Amino acid sequence: MFSRSVCVRRVVNGVRQFSSSKNLATAYYSSVLPERFYNEEQLQMQRSLKKLIDTQINPFVDEWEAQEQMPSHHIWKLMGDAGFLGVHKPIEYGGMGLSYKYHAAVLEELGSIKAYGVSSSIAVHTDVIVPPVAMYGSDRLKKEFLAPSISGDYVGCVASSEPGAGSDVASIKTKAVRRGDDLIINGQKIWITNGLKADWALLIANTSEGAPHKNKSLICVPLNVPGVTRVKIEKIGLKSADWAQLFFEDVRVPAANILGKEGDGFKQLMIQFQDERLTFPLFLVKSMDDLISETVKFTQERKTFGKSVFDNQVVQFRLGELATEIESLRALVYTAVEMHSEGKDVTRLASMAKLKCGRLVREIADSCLQFYGGMGFASETQVSRAYRDLRATSIAGGTDEINLQILGRILFKKN
Ligand SMILES: Cc1cc2nc3c(=O)[nH]c(=O)nc-3n(C[C@H](O)[C@H](O)[C@H](O)COP(=O)(O)OP(=O)(O)OC[C@H]3O[C@@H](n4cnc5c(N)ncnc54)[C@H](O)[C@@H]3O)c2cc1C
Repeated sequence: MFSRSVCVRRVVNGVRQFSSSKNLATAYYSSVLPERFYNEEQLQMQRSLKKLIDTQINPFVDEWEAQEQMPSHHIWKLMGDAGFLGVHKPIEYGGMGLSYKYHAAVLEELGSIKAYGVSSSIAVHTDVIVPPVAMYGSDRLKKEFLAPSISGDYVGCVASSEPGAGSDVASIKTKAVRRGDDLIINGQKIWITNGLKADWALLIANTSEGAPHKNKSLICVPLNVPGVTRVKIEKIGLKSADWAQLFFEDVRVPAANILGKEGDGFKQLMIQFQDERLTFPLFLVKSMDDLISETVKFTQERKTFGKSVFDNQVVQFRLGELATEIESLRALVYTAVEMHSEGKDVTRLASMAKLKCGRLVREIADSCLQFYGGMGFASETQVSRAYRDLRATSIAGGTDEINLQILGRILFKKN
């Protein structure tokens, strides 16, 4: 669904920028599926979040990208005060107690944040870090870590990857050894989103010498304690996101900070990673729609050889093809959301969606950038940010190859 609208061109700091003269909120392309899939209440939540994003987040993202950091606690509080950090979490700990589908509606709208470093950092918090505490935590842990993470007072991080173990979580080396009623943690974690500013970590460590899938526990670890050192990692994209290496040297936490049964950590984390594989496609379908929309807008305005770039059939064919791919992915994701809401196993569809999403965002960013010409290579355009940042989608939260490995096991198992 492509629509036309007149654009004005202005020059800021010597660089051309484009904006709509009719209505800044006009989308030049938008999906028709959300209105069929979500109910009025869920669509209303999307509109409220969009308003918050348009007024309190998007006007500042360029500044945060340039500074290579964002005010995480401020952003989390905005989201928490509006209820968006605990949509499907228990009311007694500050959540809204709604179904996963309501949360999915919110996640999808998160994709309208113009800096993917911001949206992905929030999504890691809501979809990987918070859920295990809600599922397995004692009342004390829920009060201490879940409630402030839903209200936006605490920023969380998940500390799984290590220099010697990323995809292969079973081979992590970090240890948490019992001393009386406490655990003493030693080891290091790497590539940790929110790692510099997080108040606490959902950390996986070996708590015994047993078999690698049964000797690990998930532990809630406050990070402002003696023995924790954080080091910033420089990265090629997702500039506003904070990314760190964490060192733990004789860090003492109560053994009661273990989530659920000691030794269940590997299984608990794998279940969570599986859920997270729906998270990226959910918010990135919206981001991909916006990239198509921005590209339609730009190419309609840009004139070559006496007509707009958009008026070349090759451009419309390619954008139409990419829009078809996004809608196909969205239909797959929506089916998985329905199944998840009904408590069904979504391993197969979530892995397919994550794999397809990682590849599609790269294809869209690359094709759209091409239609911008030189402007596409300028740092400040949304399309160049997407080209740089969204490469990470095929790595973070389970690489393409790991998803293919999972799919291979599910799809082709012998009877
Ligand atoms: C932006 C970003 C944010 C991240 N945030 C976090 C975070 O918050 N917390 C956290 O704990 N981690 C985080 N990570 C780390 C991420 O989870 C790992 O990078 C990822 O799981 C891959 O692990 P690895 O880097 O050790 O690569 P490896 O596991 O060493 O893999 C290297 C390559 O080999 C491939 N490979 C591995 N095994 C196989 C196999 N059996 N068959 C075929 N190919 C294989 C992989 O797919 C990959 O291409 C983040 C990473 C990125 C890029």
